[in-house]
Amino acid sequence: MAWLVVSVSLIVIWLASFCKIFFRATSISGAAILDDGKTPQKKNVLFVIAHPDDESMFFSPTINYLASNACNLHMLCLSTGNADGMGSIRNNELHRACAVLKVPLQQLKILNHPNLQDGFGQLWSHDLLTEIIEEEVTKHDIHTIITFDNYGVSGHCNHRDVHRGVLKFLQTNSGRNVKAWELVSLNIFRKYCGPVDIWLSILSAKIHPSKVIIINEQPWKSFKAMAQHLSQWVWFRKLFVSFSSYTYANTLSRINP
Ligand SMILES: [Zn+2]
Repeated sequence: MAWLVVSVSLIVIWLASFCKIFFRATSISGAAILDDGKTPQKKNVLFVIAHPDDESMFFSPTINYLASNACNLHMLCLSTGNADGMGSIRNNELHRACAVLKVPLQQLKILNHPNLQDGFGQLWSHDLLTEIIEEEVTKHDIHTIITFDNYGVSGHCNHRDVHRGVLKFLQTNSGRNVKAWELVSLNIFRKYCGPVDIWLSILSAKIHPSKVIIINEQPWKSFKAMAQHLSQWVWFRKLFVSFSSYTYANTLSRINP
């Protein structure tokens, strides 16, 4: 009997969470990312990721939100994801995912640098990352950077190095008017509770008002974007995208160098 009560409760919570998403009943605080108090022109936002598919698996709520708020989105992917020798395939897949996510293709840059190769044993030089990020920021007059936090959601060393590269860029470019936000890594319970996490995100934002919560109003678009990564679109990633709270919401925190 107890299992029945638990199952029914879980179904009700899931349905209520979807209603909250689809009927846009959630007040989001994403405007904080757009507001720097003095930039009236269209905001140039740079996503800095490590591998093709990071954008769809982790950052899609933020990308969808910024794309629908007329931001000029740029994507810097620091590797082709060649750990399994499929770099050129994954390069093309990222182009298709960006088309779904409304990131202009001419504003997508994918690097294939010998010292920035995909893999757990690969350590990426923070100085090299800083240099590359600095070049992109200058070239495109970037106002805002969005990237991984120090844990990098999955703990992947490439994600963590990307964070440290952005941090070093901020430390060595303190005179520039560039703000950076990190995607907050969640504990394992919150990571896999799907849309239910939006309630916990809202609660957490009330406790920590400096954090920004973005609810994904188009989660189907995240599925569609991830499905463009055909070489990665295996059963366990389909499950991941369904149950991952990163499909439904992002919590961002300002990086203070
Ligand atoms: Zn990755």
